[in-house]
Amino acid sequence: MNDVMVDVRGVHKSFGPLQVLRGVDLTVRAGEVTVILGPSGSGKSTLLRTINHLEKVDSGWISIDGELIGYRRAGNKLHELKERDVLKQRTHIGFVFQNFNLFPHLTVLDNLLEAPVSALRRPKKEAEATARRLLDRVGLADKADAYPRQLSGGQQQRVAIARALALEPKVLLFDEPTSALDPELVGEVLDVIKDLARTGTTMIVVTHEIGFAREVADTVVFMDDGTVVEQGPPAAVLDDPQRERTRAFLAKVL
Ligand code: ADP
Ligand code: MG
Repeated sequence: MNDVMVDVRGVHKSFGPLQVLRGVDLTVRAGEVTVILGPSGSGKSTLLRTINHLEKVDSGWISIDGELIGYRRAGNKLHELKERDVLKQRTHIGFVFQNFNLFPHLTVLDNLLEAPVSALRRPKKEAEATARRLLDRVGLADKADAYPRQLSGGQQQRVAIARALALEPKVLLFDEPTSALDPELVGEVLDVIKDLARTGTTMIVVTHEIGFAREVADTVVFMDDGTVVEQGPPAAVLDDPQRERTRAFLAKVL
């Protein structure tokens, strides 16, 4: 269980003159939960987006389960993969966004069937059985025929998590999954993520929920200004931070 699942090495990324990632290193082992904390603008979303190659890195590299993301190596050179191959890699990487991003014109069940049936060409019957099992897992078995607009934000986010799981990803990335929710709906979504953590799903979660980090994370990573300032077990980073920048951030959010 201690194999490296996600490896980020020396990743740099700029948007024009703005350096957003300045040499990020991150290792996530299979079955572990990594929580990324950091102020707004520190590069957290950009880092997640480079992991599934929604953003190209300027230098450095990322691998998942030993496979280079977005590139193939030929001798000493990296060649960017064709879009088709990038899409194939992306099916191994689940992504849950702050704003759910469900297909509004599809029912809950069809939201879960879209990618497995269209992208992976799974037989519809088999995909539907998986989808219903996943809806049950997130407590929404009775909402299969509802449309997203008929659901609360918490329910929509649970559908989004089930949809991400439908591809049986090697890793699940969450970008502030509860930030758009009313406070009373945050718990139901965090409970689903906690349940995934217990069953060994490899996850990287960007969140401001410090209590969740303390309870669920194997590793807490504090990012600021495009670098990893500090990382370690929650007890170390949250209760005994070594860096002034980490202390200042925690003083504001705790
Ligand atoms: P965080 O998620 O930690 O708040 P982001 O990764 O979203 O930070 O953004 C880091 C910085 O990069 C911000 O200054 C943001 O405005 C900038 N940025 C992000 N995406 C783009 C983009 N596509 N083009 C230009 N600037 C961007
Ligand atoms: Mg962000």
